[in-house]
Amino acid sequence: MYGKIKEHLQQELHSIEESGLFKRENLITSPQDAEIILSGGQKVLNFCANNYLGLSSHPVLMEAARQALDTHGFGMSSVRFICGTTDLHKELEGKIADFFGTDDTILYAACFDANGGLFEPLLGEEDAIISDSLNHASIIDGVRLCKAQRYRYANSDMDDLEAQLIKARNQRFRVIVTDGVFSMDGNLAPVDRICALAARYDALVMVDECHSAGVVGKTGRGITELFNIRGEVDIITGTLGKAFGGAIGGFTTGRKEIIELLRQRSRPYLFSNSLPPMIVAAGIKMFEMMSRTSELQDKLHRNTDHFKKQILAAGFDIKHTESAIVAIMMYDAKRSQDFAEKLLEKGIYVKGFYYPVVPKGEARIRVQLSAAHTKAHLDQALQAFIEVGKELKVI
Ligand SMILES: *Cc1c(COP(=O)(O)O)cnc(C)c1O
Repeated sequence: MYGKIKEHLQQELHSIEESGLFKRENLITSPQDAEIILSGGQKVLNFCANNYLGLSSHPVLMEAARQALDTHGFGMSSVRFICGTTDLHKELEGKIADFFGTDDTILYAACFDANGGLFEPLLGEEDAIISDSLNHASIIDGVRLCKAQRYRYANSDMDDLEAQLIKARNQRFRVIVTDGVFSMDGNLAPVDRICALAARYDALVMVDECHSAGVVGKTGRGITELFNIRGEVDIITGTLGKAFGGAIGGFTTGRKEIIELLRQRSRPYLFSNSLPPMIVAAGIKMFEMMSRTSELQDKLHRNTDHFKKQILAAGFDIKHTESAIVAIMMYDAKRSQDFAEKLLEKGIYVKGFYYPVVPKGEARIRVQLSAAHTKAHLDQALQAFIEVGKELKVI
């Protein structure tokens, strides 16, 4: 009987709307790219996609997907261990392991599933998970599904991490869990120091590289390249849905026995469909491209440096960042929304974030740079930021 609950849901929706937290979706009618077309026909420059390397509509990936459609068909209609594994799936898993310098890889439908299915098969009540306070929702959910004892440390605070490791020292096993790049500020986890603490307190390290893989490090090999600790992080999770093409798909890559046990016991892997061959084939081509050249990373790093320098020179405050995310501080929630709206009128598409997504009084515009942006795109965005910044008295 859809009676009383309907009223209750209507009230919930109303209160979301009242508090100004109702999320509305803009319709895009073009492929995802630096320039996109909105449903009204307006052409805008996109600065809020996770399309860091500009691969979302890349011709090489699209051609690989088309070819796989002919050679391997559309869907797998199976989970991996029944009849959902093709030669392509195994090849991609190998390529991901080569890219990160790990033993082996297991694919998932998304990184949300990789994180959701990671902890429960590996850890029990007698173990400890020590998690950064700003970790992604999918990590939080994955930790909830596991019986291990939970410890939390303040974002990237190594003294607090050490204090938690000391508290957890009587547990059987300890795993330190962190995002590589935190998506609201763009700051990096100090994974070199985390690994040093892990060695001292006998803990494993898990890093979610969704916003760092493909992006940080000279050739985009992520956190372990940046800190020169290749092979030292035990577990890396990541997505094919951001820098690596933007379609869908996630993975866990790391120590051999960990990956083998996940294949036996990880529930989102065992009980959810296998990735379509098109996506997998495009992923293979993408990693081949990454191993030949770091052209896209070079461009992304140049773009990020230019944008950061110019936005600071214009007088804006930004959060400390070492990624392709630049959080431009508005502080006031309403101002962040007005600012984003005025930028859109000028053809610049960005999102304003405010409490509870970020701390109270820390509302911001989050800009995400891409290798697909040209210098002219960046300068057009900077010009718009300066005009709106003056109009709204942010600078
Ligand atoms: C985006 C993201 C995810 C989820 O990845 P999907 O493949 O889209 O499910 C997980 N963790 C972090 C840190 C992310 O930014």
